[in-house]
Amino acid sequence: ETIEANEKAKRFDDAKEHLLISRFEQETIDSLLRDLPHLIDFSEGWISIQQQRKQTIYNIRTKTIIDVLPLFHSLSAEQLHTPIIHGLRCDWGSDIQIDLPVDRHSMIAIPSITNEDVDVSIVLFHQIADAYDATSADELSRLLRIFCRVVHRSRETYQLYAESRTDALTELANSRAFYEEGAQQFASDRYPLSIVLFDIDHFKYVNDTYGHKVGDLVLRELGRRIRSIQQKKHNVFAARYGGEEFVLLLHQSPQNQAIDVAEEVRHAVLDRPFVVDGHRLSITISLGVDTVEYRSERSFEESLRQADHALYVGGKHNGRNCTAHYANL
Ligand code: GH3
Ligand code: MG
Ligand code: MG
Repeated sequence: ETIEANEKAKRFDDAKEHLLISRFEQETIDSLLRDLPHLIDFSEGWISIQQQRKQTIYNIRTKTIIDVLPLFHSLSAEQLHTPIIHGLRCDWGSDIQIDLPVDRHSMIAIPSITNEDVDVSIVLFHQIADAYDATSADELSRLLRIFCRVVHRSRETYQLYAESRTDALTELANSRAFYEEGAQQFASDRYPLSIVLFDIDHFKYVNDTYGHKVGDLVLRELGRRIRSIQQKKHNVFAARYGGEEFVLLLHQSPQNQAIDVAEEVRHAVLDRPFVVDGHRLSITISLGVDTVEYRSERSFEESLRQADHALYVGGKHNGRNCTAHYANL
């Protein structure tokens, strides 16, 4: 019996270690779902993970997400904070409404283990009568407390990671994220790849005339318009490249398609005035495009230089408010 108890304790320790070394939220959840069946016997089991207002319920056996498990409603509705253990089906009572085969008897529920904004509940059933006791509840609760802490930590880590890749003013990806994305895409098989680089025309005039704050609001509104175009398409990665310069990275996008997207962006800026701080401003942009047809044709950096060249030679020096493709210069 001691040997068995020791082995069980070791399995719990291993499961805790697996949780502690996972970095991302899904990694943490997968680790728990993988380990649970080796830690405690059950015929059916569900775990609910709630963060702020979003609740996700997993079937532990199938590792799939299910919509609603009525049982969890009654658990949270009653604000239960102590484990529930039943040895026989006739003890379940009317609160527990769940469609299970008639030969299920034991039940253990650990409701509301929390850490900050993460709330976890688990419920397990078993054919055998009296399968669970207070020790099972303690072991599970301890494991779930660690789980909660790690999920909370992984969310924070992810938020920091997301913030480090986002431009605060426009809420687009920043140049760091763009360089990472570009390096990945140019190493992938998603060719043809196109880069659309663009820059606001005479933006210095906006700042000089209306002030820096109005300039910032124009950049923010431009960010909004770019995001709304990005959301409609599956293959556009948009970033703020620098001050008033932006960039799109398009995968599986030949030259003509890239030019179409560039023109769509140009019109999204040109066609509607920017209403900021009580001013109506007509804004235009110039765009330079480059397309790389296959992997060894041109590097990311070279393509970026060609898009920049197209922007200045074909766009800025050609009267502005226009799109130029490097291949057509
Ligand atoms: P061009 O058509 O040749 O691009 O003319 P331009 O005036 O847009 O170009 P220039 O490079 O002379 O000026 C860019 C201006 O953009 C200068 C800079 O102060 C402004 N700018 C860059 N970043 C920001 C920002 O974050 N906020 C504001 N308000 N202005 C910015
Ligand atoms: Mg400019
Ligand atoms: Mg510029």
